[in-house]
Amino acid sequence: MYKPTAVVTGGAGFLGSHLCDKLLAEGYKVIAVDNLITGNTNNIAHLIGNENFSFVKHDITNYIYLPGRIDFILHFASPASPIDYLKLPIQTLKVGSLGTHKVLGLAKEKKARVLIASTSEVYGDPVVHPQTEDYWGNVNPIGPRGVYDEAKRFAEAITMAYHRYHGLDTRIVRIFNTYGPRMRLDDGRALPAFVGQALRGEDITVFGDGSQTRSFCYVSDLVDGIFKLLMSNEVDPVNIGNPSEITIKQFAEEVIKLTGTKSKIVYQELPVDDPKVRQPNIEKAKRILGWEPKVGRSEGLKTTIDYFKKVITA
Ligand code: UDP
Repeated sequence: MYKPTAVVTGGAGFLGSHLCDKLLAEGYKVIAVDNLITGNTNNIAHLIGNENFSFVKHDITNYIYLPGRIDFILHFASPASPIDYLKLPIQTLKVGSLGTHKVLGLAKEKKARVLIASTSEVYGDPVVHPQTEDYWGNVNPIGPRGVYDEAKRFAEAITMAYHRYHGLDTRIVRIFNTYGPRMRLDDGRALPAFVGQALRGEDITVFGDGSQTRSFCYVSDLVDGIFKLLMSNEVDPVNIGNPSEITIKQFAEEVIKLTGTKSKIVYQELPVDDPKVRQPNIEKAKRILGWEPKVGRSEGLKTTIDYFKKVITA
């Protein structure tokens, strides 16, 4: 029996590898594409040998030839943490622009449906709170975060252009902060930083006064929402995230409590253009996809802390 084939760019990354798992579980063949600059084959090691899975090491900013039928393409390749895209600014801009262009070209050639990973960063430091999909954002194009924010905004623009001009079957997900197993301990994000520091008994580094807010979504919820969006008919962007909002200081305190560490919070300088608030409005996802997150923060954090414990002691 024919199995539909899906390509996942960034397939060896945090979200990409979870998407590969989900698509395989739903009965798809999966081709993961990754250049491994921030991804890691450890994330897909459990899939090697699965006859429905293959891996291609390739930088998606360059032309790609893939033989055979392809039904779906999910573009998840990009450095995605502030530390990563500050270290890799040109690659970040290239994968969001040239990489998205290559992905759209491949989708057009294969007559495949394509889903582009955008992000809440398109809203920048938002003046509308919580963020709805019809908010156009408040982005500094020339600041250090601009390389990521503008790359994602360009990715959305070229995706809509391919949809309108070429009639390409497109989807755009706007992903809010997501966490779970397979995050890199050293990617500099709040969650791996805090958990790593807590488990090693080091000071917990809260940036600024910690009053900035974020809303953290557990990875299995995010992946379910993305799969539902892929299967839906919605072409305009859809927010997927968990609306449970918390200040970064409270978040650090939760990590301290759940790990039982003796670590203390220390305050460091707030990065440039760090958004003051972030919370998804997910009414559209609820209405159109019948989706909402199920995993609460304490449950998700416990699973993630257990994962990081294993990574640290391995
Ligand atoms: N943050 C922090 N300490 C850290 C790392 C991050 O206080 O060691 C803050 C960061 O400044 C931001 C929030 O935590 O306000 C979330 O940061 P993250 O890097 O996870 O992602 P962002 O939401 O900024 O893209």
